[in-house]
Amino acid sequence: MPSYVITEKCDGCKGQDKTACMYICPNDLMVLDTERMKAYNREPAMCWECYNCVKICPQQAIDVRGYADFMPLGASVVPLRGSEDIMWTVKFRDGNVKRFKFPIRTTGEGSAPPDGGFGFGPGTLDDQLLATEPASLKADKLWTLGD
Ligand code: SF4
Ligand code: SF4
Repeated sequence: MPSYVITEKCDGCKGQDKTACMYICPNDLMVLDTERMKAYNREPAMCWECYNCVKICPQQAIDVRGYADFMPLGASVVPLRGSEDIMWTVKFRDGNVKRFKFPIRTTGEGSAPPDGGFGFGPGTLDDQLLATEPASLKADKLWTLGD
């Protein structure tokens, strides 16, 4: 069920170099037609339906084609992302509509430290431990090969 762009709603992210959907797609599928200023999924068969582009699009211009068992006969699942939360609007095929709102962050926008407060630097790239270890595991030391 690949994503597709509703072209009437897409504004090409107002002509920025890299659109929100291009930025977020982990499979590098979204591209911008700079003549029409409309984005599109260039290889739907490679889309793994992660919903990232659907959630990030500021115009709600991206949707996915749902499988019949997931969204049967006219049902739909539409996210609306805010800065603090995301609202999912689920429309059932009998016309019932339910909305679910979930927080999407625990810190103020722009306030999260990039290192998560663990203070790691470039030197840790050569380390056998993950960047936040051992502190994130609340351990003083973890044994590695060669210890
Ligand atoms: S994020 Fe939405 S509005 Fe921006 S280019 Fe992609 S589809 Fe268009
Ligand atoms: S659903 Fe995921 S993989 Fe598919 S185009 Fe959107 S961001 Fe890329």
